[in-house]
Amino acid sequence: MSKRKLSNLQKSRIRAVQEQRMERAKDGNSITIHKIDNVDDLGPEISGTVVSNFGTQVDVEANDGDLNGKIIRCHMRSNLDPLVTGDKVIWRFAEPYGVVVAQIDRYSELIRPDAYGKLRPVAANVDVIAIVFSPKPTAFSNLIDRYLVAAEAQNIQPVLILNKTDLDTENEFSSINQLVHDYKSIGYDVLSVSAKTADGFESLKDYLCNKTAVFVGQSGVGKSSLINRLQPQANAVVGSLSIGKEKGTHTTTVSRLFHFAHGGILIDSPGIREFSLTHLTQEQVINSFIDFRPYLGRCKFRDCLHKSEPGCSLLDAISQKKILQSRFDNYHQIIMSQESERR
Ligand code: GDP
Ligand code: ZN
Repeated sequence: MSKRKLSNLQKSRIRAVQEQRMERAKDGNSITIHKIDNVDDLGPEISGTVVSNFGTQVDVEANDGDLNGKIIRCHMRSNLDPLVTGDKVIWRFAEPYGVVVAQIDRYSELIRPDAYGKLRPVAANVDVIAIVFSPKPTAFSNLIDRYLVAAEAQNIQPVLILNKTDLDTENEFSSINQLVHDYKSIGYDVLSVSAKTADGFESLKDYLCNKTAVFVGQSGVGKSSLINRLQPQANAVVGSLSIGKEKGTHTTTVSRLFHFAHGGILIDSPGIREFSLTHLTQEQVINSFIDFRPYLGRCKFRDCLHKSEPGCSLLDAISQKKILQSRFDNYHQIIMSQESERR
């Protein structure tokens, strides 16, 4: 699909710009440096990636220099914007800690409403949202569409991962095969795998190897199992992600960045696996149905609700089988659930 290709191209351009900035930063030339520490005993500037955020401190993985690959607990200059997992930074070492002196612009942000409904970034520079589904628990297209909308609205590429292909419960698989067929026909990548037998893992590894991914999907579909098989080390740390209650605030659950053994990066936390669509406008929701896009803005009435209006371009597309009825029903279901959640 040309739209998808364009956005990949844009992403790779943006990434090239980021890399140039990093290069310039290494050479000591200008980038957006929010504040540089004057203290002389700080080491040279090093590029790094935030692997975990603890409010006032972050763990940064060094991406060059003698400490390359090491994770250093860093303080942040107070006038830096809050950093999140996945942020690219410039930092300086001052045994035993580091100091983050600059944040590089993000090319993508994963946004969540916090406990007070305020939208906040929870991860940066994510390339792909892997939406996991399975025959058991039963996969429903309305749930998959909610995840797809969340991904599209944040401009992050989704990929669908059908897990548990080792199960051969025939009834489930006829409807699963239909789902796979439908999403492929819309233009989405669908990978079929089994975390149990490792079936399909070569394609999965190839797909993830040069990307930063988050895994989402309903409980029980096998996200942890997939992640563990891709990177056993990830699990050990996932258990310690919750850093407990801070004074007077809700329990803070931080996300964490891991490297897959075969290349590629995972950002994970229990909170990152769930989405809410409440904050999206109706326009953002409908635009996130990528198969609707060719028909948007073409209805007879400008304020068409796409329910039963004459001259509705979306209804026409359905009767011509250019849009799936299930996608259309799921769109209306999302709009309705948003309305009732807001009430
Ligand atoms: P999560 O809630 O999405 O993280 O799912 P889990 O990874 O905890 O898996 C839920 C259950 O499904 C566990 O009992 C797993 O052993 C099982 N499971 C995960 N992947 C597979 C698979 O590929 N095949 C089969 N048969 N079971 C699986
Ligand atoms: Zn319409």
